[in-house]
Amino acid sequence: MRLNIGVIKGDGIGPEIVTEAMKVLDKVGEVFGHECCYTQLLMGGASIDVNGVPLTDETIELAKGSDAVLMGSIGGDAKTSPWYQLEPSKRPEAGLLKIRKELNLFANLRPAVLYDDLKEACPLKAEIAAKGFDMMIMRELTGGLYFGQRKTVEVDGVMTAYDELTYNENEIRRIAKRGFDIAMKRRKKVTSVDKANVLDSSRLWRKVVEEVAADYPDVTLENMLVDNCAMQLVKDPSQFDVILTENMFGDILSDEASMVTGSIGMLASASLNETKFGLYEPSGGSAPDIAGKGIANPIATILSAAMMLRFSFDLDKEADAIEAAVSKVLKDGFRTIDIMSEGNTQIGTCEMGDKICSYISI
Ligand code: NAD
Repeated sequence: MRLNIGVIKGDGIGPEIVTEAMKVLDKVGEVFGHECCYTQLLMGGASIDVNGVPLTDETIELAKGSDAVLMGSIGGDAKTSPWYQLEPSKRPEAGLLKIRKELNLFANLRPAVLYDDLKEACPLKAEIAAKGFDMMIMRELTGGLYFGQRKTVEVDGVMTAYDELTYNENEIRRIAKRGFDIAMKRRKKVTSVDKANVLDSSRLWRKVVEEVAADYPDVTLENMLVDNCAMQLVKDPSQFDVILTENMFGDILSDEASMVTGSIGMLASASLNETKFGLYEPSGGSAPDIAGKGIANPIATILSAAMMLRFSFDLDKEADAIEAAVSKVLKDGFRTIDIMSEGNTQIGTCEMGDKICSYISI
């Protein structure tokens, strides 16, 4: 299979971690008989330096012409970088918001996995960590409170702010279908999170999700209130497979779920649209504090590349091979500095990429 992949290396540690992910993709191509064709795209600070803007129309078109886009991270140190002297619409992050909108990326996926060999990094009680967890937070990304009308006005002499929370049934149905499709590739359980005891938007959310569930008889659906879900994530995260939720609840819960894994350099993410197209990137930022030192953890980006193979190309075996290689590297005690602990072997960004490549097999 020929894989047309747009690559945004980005800023800070971006080029270092994306290079390792490309190395792993090439190795997968060699072992499984695929050809990875890359188109380099400029975005964020790297694009400002060359084009004066964080994202050009040409880059958007090239991204749209790819089957999927693999991205590092963008942005610099807000205190010292000249990019932050520019007006907000010209700063690196504006490129990120624009590309998400232009590509209509409405479904955000963030896996939170506790690896057996990284259990000591988990901030939860040992008996909870011992059970492990492997969940996928699926967040609606283009609707809800963050995209509603907002205003601040004076009402009877009192300053009053309004934020509108709207969802229509089509927006809910398309993300719910995506959630159930993804559950079918996993342990076949969806926990739909809402606040249906209070909000109309949540009552519609629950109704539509239940309708979609009827088309997926193999998947178990559970409805959970968001306040309970926030508690369950720290009480017993092992109960979750796919957590399906709206924009703001997902924003908060996905950060909570990532924190309980304890290691930012391990967290992959994907944003998908209605086709097979997706944008795949690590959850962390561009880490300007460690850029260029060769010590950044490339695993989140490598796992994002595995998600790309699974969700944009339906190459599940190839994605499994990357995930298995990552687990084996950790089991064999190889660690970048951010996840280093006593008794293990510390290695750099490039060596981590090489080790993972060496463990890729059919
Ligand atoms: P950050 O995630 O870049 O860094 C936070 C801490 O985690 C730092 O100590 C960093 O060294 C460490 N870290 C992050 N990724 C790591 C990795 N792969 N390996 C080892 N250590 C890692 O967050 P920040 O410092 O708040 O932001 C820095 C820049 O990144 C800002 O310009 C911000 O806007 C941008 N940012 C971009 C994205 C994105 O591109 N999607 C997301 C978040 C932040």
